[in-house]
Amino acid sequence: MASKTHEPVQLGPEPAEPVTCARCGTPAPGGTPPPTWTCSVENGRRQYFCDACARANIRAIEGRLDSAWW
Ligand SMILES: [Zn+2]
Repeated sequence: MASKTHEPVQLGPEPAEPVTCARCGTPAPGGTPPPTWTCSVENGRRQYFCDACARANIRAIEGRLDSAWW
């Protein structure tokens, strides 16, 4: 007999909100972005960039924010 047992994905006691780099997809250690990461809010959605990507993207990020607020 084929019994459909759809088990919900268990992601642990903490809320499932994996923080990953929006550019390279590197998962944040411990699930929370370290202070070296850059948080950019675009269209109400938070985007995190790791240390390396933040350096490469900092100008683009700031440029976007600036142009968005103009
Ligand atoms: Zn990255």
